[in-house]
Amino acid sequence: MSRDPNRVVIIGNGPAALRLTTRLHTLGHQGPLTVIGDEPEGAYQRPLLTSLASGELRADHLRLPPHPATTDVRTGTAATALDTARRLIRLGTGGELPYDTLVLATGACPTPPARATALLHPDGTPRPGVTFLRTRADAERLTGARLTVLGAGPLGIETALALRRGGRTVTLVHEGPYPLHRHLSHETGEFLTRRLTDLGITLRAGRTVVSHTPGRSRLDDGEELDSDTLVLCTGVRPRTGLARAAGLRTADGILVDDLLRTSDPHIFAIGDCAELHGTAAAGIEAATTQADALAYTLTGTPTPYPPQPRITRLRAPEIDLVWTEQTDGQGESSISVTDRTRARRARITVRDGRVQGSEILGLPQAVSDVTTLVRAAWPLPTDWPGLLLGTRFGPYTEHADDAGGADAHACTVVCRCNNVTAKDLTAAWEAGHRTVTELAAQTRATTGCGGCTEEVQALCQNLTASRTASHTAGSPR
Ligand SMILES: Cc1cc2nc3c(=O)[nH]c(=O)nc-3n(C[C@H](O)[C@H](O)[C@H](O)COP(=O)(O)OP(=O)(O)OC[C@H]3O[C@@H](n4cnc5c(N)ncnc54)[C@H](O)[C@@H]3O)c2cc1C
Repeated sequence: MSRDPNRVVIIGNGPAALRLTTRLHTLGHQGPLTVIGDEPEGAYQRPLLTSLASGELRADHLRLPPHPATTDVRTGTAATALDTARRLIRLGTGGELPYDTLVLATGACPTPPARATALLHPDGTPRPGVTFLRTRADAERLTGARLTVLGAGPLGIETALALRRGGRTVTLVHEGPYPLHRHLSHETGEFLTRRLTDLGITLRAGRTVVSHTPGRSRLDDGEELDSDTLVLCTGVRPRTGLARAAGLRTADGILVDDLLRTSDPHIFAIGDCAELHGTAAAGIEAATTQADALAYTLTGTPTPYPPQPRITRLRAPEIDLVWTEQTDGQGESSISVTDRTRARRARITVRDGRVQGSEILGLPQAVSDVTTLVRAAWPLPTDWPGLLLGTRFGPYTEHADDAGGADAHACTVVCRCNNVTAKDLTAAWEAGHRTVTELAAQTRATTGCGGCTEEVQALCQNLTASRTASHTAGSPR
């Protein structure tokens, strides 16, 4: 890689592309930078689509900051083919675009359900009254008072909860025996079922939808549901069509090495479309971390992408749930806490003194502490079983040295998508950025999946309150 000016073109205009242009700009990339996106608008926060569909947010709330001013951004433009020999991109609007370095950031697209024939047209697009939920246009199709959501993975559950918050009647249909059955133990799944039901969601487990006609969805056991819209949340798969047609190596995703380089040395892939070490479609955090690493590589410092621990947290205010990797019970020890009365449960499996897997439902302090340990790859504190009870000790006190001797609590990552710590936010607040919007502009916290917005809001309030208290205490009486 040289420092000479070179034409970098990025195909796809999602968070991965935005992060890459921003970082390249910061690192002083010289040379033309072009982004091609087939959606009609600029990059937006896809995870907030559920809140758009529920009416909690307006479309302008989802908008991400613009690309650096020097970037040539072409929205509403699809890349239709690659000529890798001549290093040219064919555009749907006509014409060709040359590149020296090409970055594929084409994201993912929804996977249709297994028994989809009656739900989709032959070309794969949903029939009337049926929709996926991947784009802003999809979110606008979630109309009517009664909705059926097919698939109780993280997206299906978040969608069902958001629609319920918006006052709709929701049935969640899931082929597995309980929601999130691929990630949670049976017992935790049972508690999750209870919580969803208590929140007013009707659950149909072990079932699927076989057809949809206006106002009705039909299940495989013959049950008919009143249903204005059927939302398909049956998974996603990397968008690899362009790469595959150009002869790049693909599996589930576009295969890349540690430097995020595809089988063509002039082409890289980042975000949901890329597959590294057998893993693809890993979410916003992976997309932004990959963009950071690639920006260094493209500006002359080859930087391997450091794979992130897989931590999934449900993005719903009603249910505090996190799981990390699979809890297969094969660790050297494991401990669980079960509170049947309040449907709370936590389980950690330990291997080599570190968390191997965990699932935590309804214990917010434990969710936060275990997440911090896994993210930092810190060893478990001595009295680690106390973690599950939410004893506020371990990660913060025993790892103070790892955190540079400072109060390690301040090093807790608040915005996981942009790796912003409580310490960064406090520093920005001290520098005069006092609202969530100002802190977002300054640190980028909340501009990823948006899941930390409430936490940033609370931090602002706490800092304001403590500043007011210290002024009051210090003022003459
Ligand atoms: C409702 C919802 C909730 C989510 N919640 C979370 C969450 O809580 N946490 C989390 O980490 N992740 C979440 N995700 C996933 C997250 O949004 C993705 O991981 C992230 O958007 C990936 O970013 P990306 O830039 O790789 O791809 P994308 O955001 O998919 O962007 C890719 C863009 O490229 C465009 N494109 C594709 N092919 C072409 C082409 N040939 N020419 C031009 N343009 C093209 C696409 O149309 C798209 O605009 C959620 C997703 C959805 C839909």
